[in-house]
Amino acid sequence: MLYPEEFDVIVVGGGHAGTEAALAAARMGCKTLLLSHNIETLGQMSCNPSIGGIGKGHLVKEVDALGGAMAIATDEGGIQFRILNSSKGPAVRATRAQADRILYKAAIRRRLENQPNLTLFQQAVDDLMVEGDRVVGAVTQVGIRFRSRTVVLTAGTFLDGKIHVGLNNYAAGRAGDPPAISLSARLKELKLPQARLKTGTPPRLDGRTIDFSRCEEQPGDLDPVPVFSFMGNAAMHPAQVPCWITHTNERTHEIIRSGFDRSPMFTGKIEGVGPRYCPSVEDKVNRFADKDSHQIFLEPEGLTTNEIYPNGISTSLPFDIQYQLVRSMAGLENAHILRPGYAIEYDYFDPRSLKSSFETRSIGGLFFAGQINGTTGYEEAAAQGLFAGVNAALQCQGKSSWLPGRDEAYLGVLVDDLITKGVTEPYRMFTSRAEFRLQLREDNADMRLTEQGRTLGLVDDARWESFNRKRDAVSRETERLKSTWVNPRNLPAAESERVLGKAIDHEYSLGDLLRRPDVRYAGLMSLDAGRYASADVSRETLAELWQPVVEQIEIAAKYSGYIDRQKDEILRAAQYEHLKLPLDFDYLGVPALSFEVRQKLNKHKPETLGLASRISGVTPAAISLLLVHLKKSR
Ligand code: FAD
Repeated sequence: MLYPEEFDVIVVGGGHAGTEAALAAARMGCKTLLLSHNIETLGQMSCNPSIGGIGKGHLVKEVDALGGAMAIATDEGGIQFRILNSSKGPAVRATRAQADRILYKAAIRRRLENQPNLTLFQQAVDDLMVEGDRVVGAVTQVGIRFRSRTVVLTAGTFLDGKIHVGLNNYAAGRAGDPPAISLSARLKELKLPQARLKTGTPPRLDGRTIDFSRCEEQPGDLDPVPVFSFMGNAAMHPAQVPCWITHTNERTHEIIRSGFDRSPMFTGKIEGVGPRYCPSVEDKVNRFADKDSHQIFLEPEGLTTNEIYPNGISTSLPFDIQYQLVRSMAGLENAHILRPGYAIEYDYFDPRSLKSSFETRSIGGLFFAGQINGTTGYEEAAAQGLFAGVNAALQCQGKSSWLPGRDEAYLGVLVDDLITKGVTEPYRMFTSRAEFRLQLREDNADMRLTEQGRTLGLVDDARWESFNRKRDAVSRETERLKSTWVNPRNLPAAESERVLGKAIDHEYSLGDLLRRPDVRYAGLMSLDAGRYASADVSRETLAELWQPVVEQIEIAAKYSGYIDRQKDEILRAAQYEHLKLPLDFDYLGVPALSFEVRQKLNKHKPETLGLASRISGVTPAAISLLLVHLKKSR
């Protein structure tokens, strides 16, 4: 049957990429259809029940700054929040939350069900409708044909997915869900460059059978409890619960080694490469043979379940080995495994075959986002989903595509890395991937992106008003600090020493004083019985958002030297970053370049000089030679 309605954007897959893609396209006014295997699994966390962390938290805040759902759903479902690296510089501070997976999923589903312009439909997609070199829709398992102008494919780990437990394996998208086999075959037929990756998950435990008194308690941050969304607050969190820590030991490692001969990884049953930074426990024991213990976090899966996620023992070893290795650890001597751990192998597509909008180069209107592009992680998927949803919507609106720069967003770094470098193992975000990370902090994601989000049509009125209140308060208070002077003659020496560490010898502005490493904003405001405090703070509407305002002001004051230097670097790099390269340019005809560089450039056909410079093997010297050639040939 041909479905009677036609859509602007069809999103296939309701995981973290698909939900953000569908919400973004619909927020931008496009008639959007989200097709997924099962409405019950929309927004499902396939692996650990946590969101954020270093680099990943930055992406979540950016998705939020652009009006996305992940951060606010985490605030509504979060049961433990922490700021990681809190004693380090602001660039690497990151929020991480444990989520109640049921509440998280419900929060995502509520947003999807109530989003204007968005229709949900439960069916597996088995085929894509392609006319000439354009996609024109999707066909479901029972033959329903949905027509659309664009399709965003976010099939996660499901394409030709195969689960491994020991030497046993079976086809699946993840435990309990069907694989996408017909769609995988169709994509292969369309000759999109594809390969295999793998990822794994630990066995889940019944909390009633764990002796927590033998484990170390790990509480979240309680004063204050962190918040993920710029529109969130701590009162949204349902409750705060602790996690627990236990350790592997020599005996655990012996048990693990005894299963190596039946490990699908070590016996070559699994061909796909796994995530280096999220290794299985057998990989850790094998690679770090000198370590006699690894830390294992016991994370509650929710408030209404006893299920515990033992973070750190992801494994595809046979079940009898899993059983013994779990029981070899302190507190887990009698632990009952509710679900066995497993590894999954799946198809991914080489992201170098995507344009900088995530549209495939060979099939017009077809966009890819999430794990299908060779990444790992909910946060990486959500960011890509929002990005692809936006670009599919822009294409429907006849507008040019959107790509934030590497100096504007981790999202820009993520997309740029994927399309220029491709992946050889599942890609995850780290702050070290961003060369301008002092600019790309979690705390200023809204300052960097909300205005762009508003222009794109992603940001609603409530967020826009709240953002403007904050931005205005930051600039008003920054100006006030610059123009409010503290005169040593009017300042009692004891007060000066209390707040500034020593007496001042001449007049300083509050802004100058705040640049001193040990001087805090709160201290300045308490100086001389609050004589220099802002009148704004007492206003009710601002009091609520004052903490984030102060954070911006303090960071800008303390790091202004470094930030200004980084801005100069960005300006220098930007000179050539956006220089367009003709897509039909024949690099083989640039004799000054090495044959290898010519071949690489011809293969990738980068859209800009900036993109060319980040193709692996294309050196700065090669870029200079190319620039000279381009200038001469004009
Ligand atoms: P998914 O979350 O996989 O969602 C895909 C969605 O598409 C699903 O809703 C599915 O039903 C739907 N779908 C697929 N094909 C079709 C079709 N043909 N028709 C209709 N609907 C379809 N990440 C980490 O960061 N660290 C880890 O250690 C880690 N371990 C993992 C272990 C396992 C076993 C699994 C399965 C995943 C793991 N992940 C891990 C990855 C993490 O789950 C993914 O990165 C993330 O969920 C990807 O999001 P996505 O939206 O791309 O895909």
